[in-house]
Amino acid sequence: MDPFVKASLHVGVVGGGVAGLACALAAARGGARVQVFEERPEHMQVDTHVEVVPSMLRDLVRIGVGDACVRAGFPFRRTNVLDQAGRKLFAIEAEALAGPRLPATLGITRSSFHEGLREAAVAAGCQMNRGLRVTDVGADGSIEFARSAPVRADLVVLACGSESPLRARVFGASPPVRPGPAWSYFLASRPVGLDEAVLASARDGRKAHVVPVSSSQVGVRMAPAPHQLPHASAPAAWPGELLAGFAGVLGALGDGARNETRAVLRDAHADVAAADWHRGALLAVGDCAHRLPPHFGQSAAQAIEDAVVLGELLERGGSVDELSAAFVRRRRDRVAEVAALTTLAARWDTEPEPATDLPAITRALARLVHQPA
Ligand SMILES: Cc1cc2nc3c(=O)[nH]c(=O)nc-3n(C[C@H](O)[C@H](O)[C@H](O)COP(=O)(O)OP(=O)(O)OC[C@H]3O[C@@H](n4cnc5c(N)ncnc54)[C@H](O)[C@@H]3O)c2cc1C
Repeated sequence: MDPFVKASLHVGVVGGGVAGLACALAAARGGARVQVFEERPEHMQVDTHVEVVPSMLRDLVRIGVGDACVRAGFPFRRTNVLDQAGRKLFAIEAEALAGPRLPATLGITRSSFHEGLREAAVAAGCQMNRGLRVTDVGADGSIEFARSAPVRADLVVLACGSESPLRARVFGASPPVRPGPAWSYFLASRPVGLDEAVLASARDGRKAHVVPVSSSQVGVRMAPAPHQLPHASAPAAWPGELLAGFAGVLGALGDGARNETRAVLRDAHADVAAADWHRGALLAVGDCAHRLPPHFGQSAAQAIEDAVVLGELLERGGSVDELSAAFVRRRRDRVAEVAALTTLAARWDTEPEPATDLPAITRALARLVHQPA
């Protein structure tokens, strides 16, 4: 394949989630002509949050949206670990990696995060096409739709997530996942004084991770009770029910929960696609290539790393084949290591063993992502 000329490279991005929007933005900043195809007609409105961890904020700065995310989110530095009575055991301090001007970490609602990425991508020149479902993609760069004429791109960035039939079409279906634990996500009113993250346990051993996301809201991620593993297809609970049995600040959160919207359930298995992420003009990114447990914010953080690496490789030039091969070389082993550590953290939530050393897992992960991808 011929080396590409940056300004004329046509990149088609399939999927307008976090990975698709971030890669579209990075590609446009790298000089490509970018079109995004997203099947959902509307702006994403999900009542959940994203924890922007230090490495992710550093990488958001690199693709030009760090400041916008800080403005839309709630900065903090520490995670306070509480016992079952709500007393502080210890704090995990985050190291700021995005420079002296920006905070270490922040919480942000998923809707604000998406909107910030989308606005930046449009400002960088990306063309957004919503309500357009891609029915097939080919290694020759073809992109087919249910009701529109096909398009051909030089590079097709496949960012359709882990559940899309397109993923199975390109990679073959993943082996069925045995029913596993489902984590519950919801937003709640922010109690006065909750201005850092909190990791707390209920009396029955359930764990909750709470992150401030705005002056008025916190985002909550809650693990199921140990050894009771409701699958993601089980009906979701109300926030008030989920918070029953927690003491201290989380108890107060439960007392104030309005129960207007049920929690969102997501299971936390890792699925790093076994097949090559690159075939001809196709390159898989984000959950399509590497679905991860959300622990340490790494599922989203790895999607942003994909975007940074894609942008750098586009800047460098070469052929599309060389670019994609270099992308896989830089990303696959690192993501597999992150998957192993986040899987350990997910297990700590649901199958706790006294020997599991969460601070050690946290330090190992921090060391790994401290170096940019
Ligand atoms: C409820 C929930 C909570 C989460 N919490 C966390 C967390 O706390 N921390 C964390 O790190 N990660 C979390 N994640 C995961 C994180 O959001 C993802 O890893 C990250 O956003 C990357 O996802 P993605 O963009 O690759 O895929 P997705 O977010 O799945 O986006 C894929 C997009 O592709 C579109 N699409 C699919 N098929 C087609 C098609 N055929 N044609 C056109 N468009 C298509 C979909 O509509 C969707 O918009 C959570 C995810 C969920 C669902």
